[in-house]
Amino acid sequence: MKSNRSLMKWVPLRCALCGFVLALLTLGIMTLAPHRAITWICSAGILSAAGYCMGRQVQKLYEEIYTDKLTNIGNRNLFYYQMGGILDALKENRLRDVSLAMIDIDHFKKINDAYGHMIGDRLLSEIANILKKSTRKTDLLIRWGGEEFLVVLPNAALEGARSFMERIRSMIESHQFDWIRMTDVVTISVGITSYKELEKSGLPVGDLADMLLTTADNALYEAKKRRNEVAVHRQR
Ligand code: GH3
Ligand code: MG
Ligand code: MG
Repeated sequence: MKSNRSLMKWVPLRCALCGFVLALLTLGIMTLAPHRAITWICSAGILSAAGYCMGRQVQKLYEEIYTDKLTNIGNRNLFYYQMGGILDALKENRLRDVSLAMIDIDHFKKINDAYGHMIGDRLLSEIANILKKSTRKTDLLIRWGGEEFLVVLPNAALEGARSFMERIRSMIESHQFDWIRMTDVVTISVGITSYKELEKSGLPVGDLADMLLTTADNALYEAKKRRNEVAVHRQR
């Protein structure tokens, strides 16, 4: 099978060829059609269809770049892209706060070892679905990598984010996952941080995305000491 890269090599040439064929078609209609109105309508139709197809291709490309293939949620690219907008909104006071939760599935390696990678993959998708159903459209849901997820909650303060993630933690603990024995309880650990909390240390706002990630990761480290727990980052 040809790689995507070698297929992509021909895209500009194919677009140029399409443009050439469209121009020929338009010219043909202009020559053959008896009325100006018919010529105009046909040409406009052809060009609109071509524009629509190009737009769909760009849309598909966008989705490919920003979507995690396995879970169908956002990936790292989307996180950094969206954080730019969130940062602007905070600077312009359109957002009061933003909280970030870093989620890690507990003992996921054991699940892979016991059930195999395919079931491990299904579990990742199921957890992504639970998160998708529980979050709002304005929240940002990301598969950070492996068995780690991020939930960015715009306008949520640290305490609100904590109780929200506590509900999700408990929901996952009591969820019966497909293919997983009832005796094997799946749990997550969560580390949470927020912009307002970081502001207390007078952080340079430009580093916000990385500061949020680092402090959420520190909180997750605390949660992992016991597992199946939600921990928050408090600025001293
Ligand atoms: P902890 O509670 O400390 O987080 O333990 P853990 O086993 O969850 O963490 P660890 O970092 O030791 O192992 C993570 C495992 O996740 C190992 C790796 O094989 C698995 N993994 C990473 N990405 C994927 C994936 O896309 N699919 C599957 N099935 N497994 C994955
Ligand atoms: Mg991990
Ligand atoms: Mg883990």
